[in-house]
Amino acid sequence: MAALNLRTTAEIQAADAAHHWHPFTDTADLAAKGARVIASADGCWLTTNDGQRILDGMAGLWCVNVGYGRQEIVEAVARQMSQLAYYNTFFQTTHPAAAEFAEAVTAVAPPHMNRVFFTNSGSESNDTVFRLARVYWDAMGKPSKKIFISRRNGYHGSTVAASSLGGMKAMHAQSGLPIAGVHHINQPYVFGEAEGMDPAEFGRARARELEQAIDEIGEENVCAFIAEPIQGAGGVIIPPETYWPEIRRICAEREILLVADEVICGFGRTGRWFGSDTYEIEADLMPIAKGMTSGYVPMGGVLISDKVAGPVMAHAGEFYHGYTYSGHPAACAAGIANLRIMQEEKLPERVATDIGPYLAERWLKLGDHPLVGEARMKGLLGALELVADKTTNARFPNSGTAGMRCRDLSVEHGLVMRAVGDTMIISPPLILSHAEADELVDRARRALDALADETARSRAA
Ligand SMILES: *Cc1c(COP(=O)(O)O)cnc(C)c1O
Repeated sequence: MAALNLRTTAEIQAADAAHHWHPFTDTADLAAKGARVIASADGCWLTTNDGQRILDGMAGLWCVNVGYGRQEIVEAVARQMSQLAYYNTFFQTTHPAAAEFAEAVTAVAPPHMNRVFFTNSGSESNDTVFRLARVYWDAMGKPSKKIFISRRNGYHGSTVAASSLGGMKAMHAQSGLPIAGVHHINQPYVFGEAEGMDPAEFGRARARELEQAIDEIGEENVCAFIAEPIQGAGGVIIPPETYWPEIRRICAEREILLVADEVICGFGRTGRWFGSDTYEIEADLMPIAKGMTSGYVPMGGVLISDKVAGPVMAHAGEFYHGYTYSGHPAACAAGIANLRIMQEEKLPERVATDIGPYLAERWLKLGDHPLVGEARMKGLLGALELVADKTTNARFPNSGTAGMRCRDLSVEHGLVMRAVGDTMIISPPLILSHAEADELVDRARRALDALADETARSRAA
């Protein structure tokens, strides 16, 4: 076995602090505090190196949809690696796992999507989208159509193209982004931005910003609109029911591609196989990752509609694009085993008709808490908006401080919740049991109570 637990927690933290540069982390701050060390996991539960059991309300990073420790996946990957650990899919070659997974993943995709391009992450998938969408318009004889429209506070990954498509201000500010060719419009964030406007009207208004942007830029210059069906990293922003129908109308009237970033919403998260099924979005391209392999092996992909595949294959010839590990055998084997579990356990359906409604009923009751301005949930994506004053929904001063504190208190109470500013979010494994759902809400409430106590004490001081 690997050298699990041969070092003390302090030794692991010291080695990590000295040498490990963490993603999305203030590395100096973490090195001073010491990282939390997760040593093992099973089902929906993490175990730290010191033996604390924590309910994983985030399914890792939105990805471990079938839960931890699934031996079917472990064994499928081991078998695959003994037989063929690696071969590439460039140069007119394939292997059985890539062919089988391509067939399996397109079988659960919407009927108009019959091809998949394999990548290794969601970010890479969006880089592939960036290039493939432009190649499509070249193939259509409309090379002026180059500009992407995307949304402020959207998240599409962390590479240069993906973070440019994304609308995270802090990311853009650090590296001189976005790159040329990306135009951002506003998000359908009712709690944060509707300012008393009727949500249905607000949803339509935010969708119509797409129409206005197309007119400003000129339809002949617009390549595609990209959006997450539900924004994840932006704070689980569930759009009003009027939003997607209006986007769909605009895309039907205008000649632009529609890209639904399904990296989080895909693979059952919203109660259907894809967020596009839930919101009846007929996308031309769908970047996928995360739940595609439940995170057991890194993998991503782009699902490609017949509409896009046809002209590109007929007119573009070779697409000069690919990754050494596109269609990696171990990732494909994990993906096949993962899909089999999802099908056998009917996980999308379970989210729609069983655990989704069960958790939502309890989660929404957290909206009564004095520090919560809104509780919302769709499928197994949930959020709580922390507020300093429930009567006015006024936020805490120093945005993000209360959220960060709530996140720490939540872990102390044995639950991983994530904070996006002062929005607390969850995205638990799709196998969450009813008892675990009760436990999740209970622990979240105890974390909120602890935060309320601290807040009251600091106000009294
Ligand atoms: C996580 C995420 C990505 C990026 O995926 P990585 O695998 O981290 O590169 C892209 N889009 C969305 C919607 C995501 O949530």
